[in-house]
Amino acid sequence: MNSQIITRFKNIAKKISAKLEESILSDKSLKCKVVYGPVKTRRLGLVLGINNAQSKTCSYNCVYCPSGKTSCCSTFSNSCLSPYELYISVKNKLEEIKRNGQKVEYILFAGSGDPALDPNLSKEISLLREFGYKIAVYTNSSLIWNENIQENLMFADYVSLKVDTVSENTWSKLNRPHPRLRFKHILNGIEQFSKRFRGTLSTETTLVKDINDSTEEIHELSNFLNNLKCKTSYFLTPSFPPTKSFAVSPEASVLEQLSGMLKEKLKNAVLLCCPETEEFFATGDFENELMGLLSLHPVRVDSVKHFVKENTKLDLLENLIDNQTIKEITYSERNFYVENIEPNLSVAS
Ligand code: SF4
Repeated sequence: MNSQIITRFKNIAKKISAKLEESILSDKSLKCKVVYGPVKTRRLGLVLGINNAQSKTCSYNCVYCPSGKTSCCSTFSNSCLSPYELYISVKNKLEEIKRNGQKVEYILFAGSGDPALDPNLSKEISLLREFGYKIAVYTNSSLIWNENIQENLMFADYVSLKVDTVSENTWSKLNRPHPRLRFKHILNGIEQFSKRFRGTLSTETTLVKDINDSTEEIHELSNFLNNLKCKTSYFLTPSFPPTKSFAVSPEASVLEQLSGMLKEKLKNAVLLCCPETEEFFATGDFENELMGLLSLHPVRVDSVKHFVKENTKLDLLENLIDNQTIKEITYSERNFYVENIEPNLSVAS
């Protein structure tokens, strides 16, 4: 009798799950945008990405942001998918990835806004644990002073905190924060969290020419970072076309000088200034997967072309170009595909 009831409940649960799955997948605007990838990252290897905060809602509006201008500068965001909807989407995607013979290292919460704004973050992480992958969160640290945000982040295995500067003036110019944010609270919150967090903690600093690349800046920043309980302090330069055209990488000679200085002053610095050759993967739905990734950042033309050639999807790529859904741009002597926001305008190459 008991086993009959259990089987009946299991069947009902399966039916509900199938219906939910259908409705999630029928919403084209979210497809491959909330759950995206797999993507090869410089720090974590191959990851499955999650971007569950509302699109381009961020507490910062960084001049170097690769996702474009923040459309809603806020310290709060709704989730795009409920925790259970997200669970189903991730489950489907992981099955596709497995069928494709790939293996992801992490499930990574990162995207076109700050994942820490997602009010369901801890619930989502707890549910996704079932799949047995390590879980990482890249946050811009703007709300790290808040006890609830810290609690949510404690659920992750790996947290990366953005620390571009310790100067309030530079922070205002570079990160263009929400007016209610207080810089001092953020720096205190970072210090406090680094002492509490039991997983792997890293920091991320994006170096931008003439804004935070002076020796004084790096000297002060190194002093702050040396006090954190943190495994690695990563230094990057903008590798995608930025929101503001002036937000470019420091000159090679400046980077060389800073590199020497960081090695001397900081115990755990790693410079990731030269982007690796980007790889693009689609596990089945090439068009939606490419568009999902393009909603986060431009994608290198050579990596997409390599994929379509290997997987005989050239006609699908040509369709996207002919329909003016995507276009090609050049940045820093590299060619990228970007979303064509105004598809009726002529396409630049
Ligand atoms: S770079 Fe990150 S923190 Fe800055 S505006 Fe873009 S999404 Fe927000």
